[in-house]
Order: sequence, then structure tokens, then C-alpha cells
Amino acid sequence: MSRQWVLPEVAAIEAEMIALRRELHARPELGFEEHATSALVAAKLEAWGYRVTRGVGGTGVVGTLARGSGTSLGLRADMDALPIREATGLPYASRNDGIMHACGHDGHTAMLLAAARCLAEKTHWRGTLNLIFQPAEEGLGGALKMIEDGLFQHFPCDRLFAMHNVPGFPAGKIGVHSGAFMASADEVTIRVTGRGGHAAAPHQTIDPVVVGASIVMALQSVVARNVAPHEQAVVSVGALHAGSVSNVIAPHADLHLSVRALSADVRELLERRIRALAEGQAASYGASVEIDYRHGYPVLVNHDEETAIAHRVALDWGGEAMLIDGLRPFMASEDFAYMLERCPGSYLSIGNGDGTQHCSLHHPGYDFNDASLAIGASYWVKLAEYILQ
Ligand SMILES: [Zn+2]
Ligand SMILES: [Zn+2]
Repeated sequence: MSRQWVLPEVAAIEAEMIALRRELHARPELGFEEHATSALVAAKLEAWGYRVTRGVGGTGVVGTLARGSGTSLGLRADMDALPIREATGLPYASRNDGIMHACGHDGHTAMLLAAARCLAEKTHWRGTLNLIFQPAEEGLGGALKMIEDGLFQHFPCDRLFAMHNVPGFPAGKIGVHSGAFMASADEVTIRVTGRGGHAAAPHQTIDPVVVGASIVMALQSVVARNVAPHEQAVVSVGALHAGSVSNVIAPHADLHLSVRALSADVRELLERRIRALAEGQAASYGASVEIDYRHGYPVLVNHDEETAIAHRVALDWGGEAMLIDGLRPFMASEDFAYMLERCPGSYLSIGNGDGTQHCSLHHPGYDFNDASLAIGASYWVKLAEYILQ
């Protein structure tokens, strides 16, 4: 069924590209340490006739191919792996102990390389193709590093796209969604300072455990009572540390929060309320708080026009059946958001399989689905041909 979405020229190199994907899988590298990965990417692109720029934003690579004047199209793939010990038992499982391609960036890289090769062999398109191989998507903001290194000055893009695999949807189906698609992610540490002492004399102490518990409960009201019902937000207290034994009241308690929103306004509202509640709760007990509010990736907003183009290309190529049904925004975050703040584009999804054998992202049993590779590469070729006509 889904094989009809594979272009003949992609089918011809599919086995080779799957082997390349598994080679990447076996040699995963952490963010900004993708030396072997980016060297391999650069060598392939060069061999296929791309002008290659290495070391963009650390270990990033950009391959450019220009055929006369016209639109400039950017396609981006991420290359980094995660500090996870692989438990797939696959013959091509990670040989770098404690590091794993558990987010499918090996697949994204191989998919874009396959498209790169096919597009280099085609002569009918016009314009400039910028293939952006980005380091360090997992929390380190490699996208921002590339931007600060002059990515869009040296390689201006009129339209920009990237694609991430999504477990739980049929392999190879394409997902498009206009507007806010992935959440901002901020991390907050709240240090409560009370007064420690003997557990038998609580009246002589200010118990930071009680204050911390009170803050945790108060925080539950932010999403329930401050965020409008039609908006989406998350305030999770992922860790709460205080004390070490039962008969001592500790001097401090530390709360670690993950805070997510799907709009800049809600993101601001969350910060305001979290600060006010933590300070107010602490003050009411005579304790104090120190708040370390670290802003992570911003909300990822897909642009309407580029999303419409992506939708059109999927429809023309694969019909209604090629589109993921019922794709909703994710509360996970993604640093492609920084690129979309500067360049019109869209972040697309590709199904990684909907059977029970397909693990979630960042799971030690996860593997990119090779059945998606040729479809994703074919889709990139069709999208590039549509935009660079
Ligand atoms: Zn990830
Ligand atoms: Zn990822």
C-alpha cells in the first residue's frame, strides 16, 4: 500500500540508504560531538556535487546546490543522539556504550541524504537547495548555534522545512499542522529556605518540607484556574528534594519543574503565576524562595503558507491516504522553533509505525522504522520539485 509513495529513483538506492541509516545508528554521537556523523554527511554531499560548508554552529553541515536563480529552499535534519543505554538487541545496535539514537535522528539524516542524492541527479529544477544538517537538537539548542553562526546570512532560505518521526502513527504517513505545533519548555528550580532543627521541636523551625508541599499544591491551580480552558499548558513538578532522615527538619527544599505552553502569552502567564505562588506560599510560612527560571526552546509555530504547500504536496503525491489523521500539537519541544522564528516554514511529521512493537521516542527499545525512510525521502524530493519549479 504505502510502497506506492516511493519514487523509483529512491527505490533504486533504498537498500543502500537503509544500510547507511543503520551505520549511523551503530555509531551514535551526543550533541556537538557529532564529528564522525557530520564528516560522513559532508563526504556524501561532496561526492554528489554539493558545495559543503562544515563547522556551522559547531558540528553542523550545510550542503548547497544551485541551479540558476529562483527560490531558495531549506531542508533540515538533526544528527545527535541521546545519553541512553540501548536495549533493542538489534544487530546494528549502538556500539557507543550509553549513547543511543533513541529519537530517530539517524533516520532523519539518512532520509535527507537519500533525497539529496536524488535531487543532485535531477536537472529540471531551478533555484537553490540548502540542506541543513544540524547538531545538538536534544536540549542543547544546536539550531540557535547555527543561526548565531550566520546560517541564514550565508544560506538564506525563502522556505524551510524539517520532519520528525512520530511513533504511534502508520509508517510513512505525513503529518502537517498549521500554527502552534510544539510547546515551549522552561525549567524552573525553586529553592525553599526555612529554618532547620529537631523534629521534636517543629515550633522552633520553619519546615521547608511543609512549604514545598504547599507550593506543589498551589501550583496545581495555575493550569486549572489561570490558563484559559481553550489553551494548553503543563506545570509538572518532576522532582522534590528535602531532608535525609525522619528526626531532623531540613533547612532547604528544592523543587524542579517542567513548564510548557503552546503560546508566548501563556508561557508568560505561567512564569508570572509560578513566581507569585511560590513567593506568596513561602512568605505565608515565614520562609523564602530563590527561583531559577531557565527559558528553553520557544513555542514552535508552523507558518500557514508553507504548511499549506506541504499539505498540497502530500495530497498530490499520495492522496488523502498519505496524510496522518487527527494530528494534534505536542507538548514536547523542538529547537527548529528558533529557525521558524526567522524563516517561514513548517515542521512536518512522519509516522514511525502504529503497532505495539514501536516504542516511544527516547525509550531504550526505540528504533527508527526503515519502512518510512524511502517514503520520507520521496516526499522531500516531491516537495523540493514543487517549490523549485
Ligand atoms: Zn528527542
Ligand atoms: Zn528528536
